Amino acid sequence: MRLVPSPGSPGSFWEDRQDRRHCGVDLYASSGSKVVSIEDGIVLEVGTFTSPGIIPYWNETFYVLVENESGSFAKFAELVEVEVRAGDRLSSDQTVGRVGPVLNTEKIDDDAPAYIKSLKEAGDSSMLHFELYESRPEVSDRYLGGNWFGPGKPEGVLDPTGRLVAISKE
Ligand SMILES: [Zn+2]
Repeated sequence: MRLVPSPGSPGSFWEDRQDRRHCGVDLYASSGSKVVSIEDGIVLEVGTFTSPGIIPYWNETFYVLVENESGSFAKFAELVEVEVRAGDRLSSDQTVGRVGPVLNTEKIDDDAPAYIKSLKEAGDSSMLHFELYESRPEVSDRYLGGNWFGPGKPEGVLDPTGRLVAISKE
């Protein structure tokens, strides 16, 4: 796992992306890197997270929503491969899936949002997008691709930075 972004830096929780706010933390890792659960839990949902059918410059990626034993809810997103299914019991450190490029850079043109163009310039969009909630996340039309559009914030969303920093030191 690469460094957890510090508050305010690119990929950090609630980063201001001009037209949107970041609902989680981005952990960049080379394509194919394993993503593991943070504690024991149960897989509640596996679904599509991004796809070219939603936004042309998105590749198809998936999310896994896990109810952790401690009562929190972890969302592992922007996975190109998923190795679990809804209903599976997970143990801490079990492989959930693998990361890969989220963006199709050939489809990003000058009309794309500034934030997306900055990712294209960085040349690397292989990452885990991780969200943490104190209650099961609800569907909202303000939420898309791990970002929040407009006022307010997702119900129950938590800043996972401290937790991820602690795990990265284990
Ligand atoms: Zn993200």
